[in-house]
Amino acid sequence: MSEKPKLSLVVPVYNEAESLAELHARLTTVLKPLNLSYEIIMVDDGSSDGSAALIAKLHEADQRVKLLSFSRNFGHMIALTAGLDAAHGDAVITLDADLQHPPALIPELVRRWQAGAEVVNTLRRGTTGAGPLKKLTAALFYRLMKMPVNAADYRLLDRKVVDVLKSVRERARFLRGLINWVGFKQEFVEYEADRRFAGWTKYSFGRMVAFALDGITSFSAVPLRLAAYCGLLSALLGFVYIVYAVYVHFFTTTTIAGWTSVLVAVLFLGGIQLIFLGVLGEYLGRVFEETKQRPLYIVSRRLGL
Ligand code: UDP
Ligand code: MG
Repeated sequence: MSEKPKLSLVVPVYNEAESLAELHARLTTVLKPLNLSYEIIMVDDGSSDGSAALIAKLHEADQRVKLLSFSRNFGHMIALTAGLDAAHGDAVITLDADLQHPPALIPELVRRWQAGAEVVNTLRRGTTGAGPLKKLTAALFYRLMKMPVNAADYRLLDRKVVDVLKSVRERARFLRGLINWVGFKQEFVEYEADRRFAGWTKYSFGRMVAFALDGITSFSAVPLRLAAYCGLLSALLGFVYIVYAVYVHFFTTTTIAGWTSVLVAVLFLGGIQLIFLGVLGEYLGRVFEETKQRPLYIVSRRLGL
């Protein structure tokens, strides 16, 4: 296989040993009739369940399967990035290993691309398998980010777009936002979400919170501005209160209830200050992370690449 593949598939894999054989079989069934040369790049994100060995076996049997192994777990977004870096295709499709992104949709994605689309996004119709907490937090988050709730990291990217994304080396990668940001001719395709083929979600609640914070802080400075607005508002309230206190002092006989009002003001302002110190910290921490300029990932093993 020295010929340059037309289509690259990028699959992030983190402890998905139970799904890999089925994934490979389903992908092959769908890709064969397309009559395009293709490669399947499986990025093993520091799995500990033998996923890498399984991918190596798949590679033995089918040279189109290629392996990129990380030295440890770097996270879903970084795994996708490494796959995009390694892909050779004129178009790249990213999809999850757990078969929640149905391979059956691939011919439609390719058709749209051949008809001129440069990014073909997918929107899932149901969220099979997602709990109520995940649904609620996702809804809130995407409303805040002004993005469709049901956008998935299952999409086709034209080579042009991949090359642009390769030049974006920020560490906090929120791909859905980045795709929005790069522009190009984008289309959407809907699909019915499947249940996970095997195992459990690799996104714990804590990881999801971290992911959401990455998304917000890398695309919006609104939380920083919020500090100024809150400061302005409390200064205004303080000013009104001073006018009131002066009035009470000179024109009435009642004295100011000092203890309560002072305590309320101190607590209120103290709270606001601490909150926004935290917000500042979030951004500053990210500036710190980015300035270190460490590589985004460390590869420990490559097969076929
Ligand atoms: N994944 C990864 N690294 C991680 C977590 C997840 O490469 O640290 C992969 C995982 O193997 C799967 C995809 O990213 O192929 C999506 O993960 P998951 O299905 O757990 O997320 P969910 O579908 O529940 O949002
Ligand atoms: Mg999943």
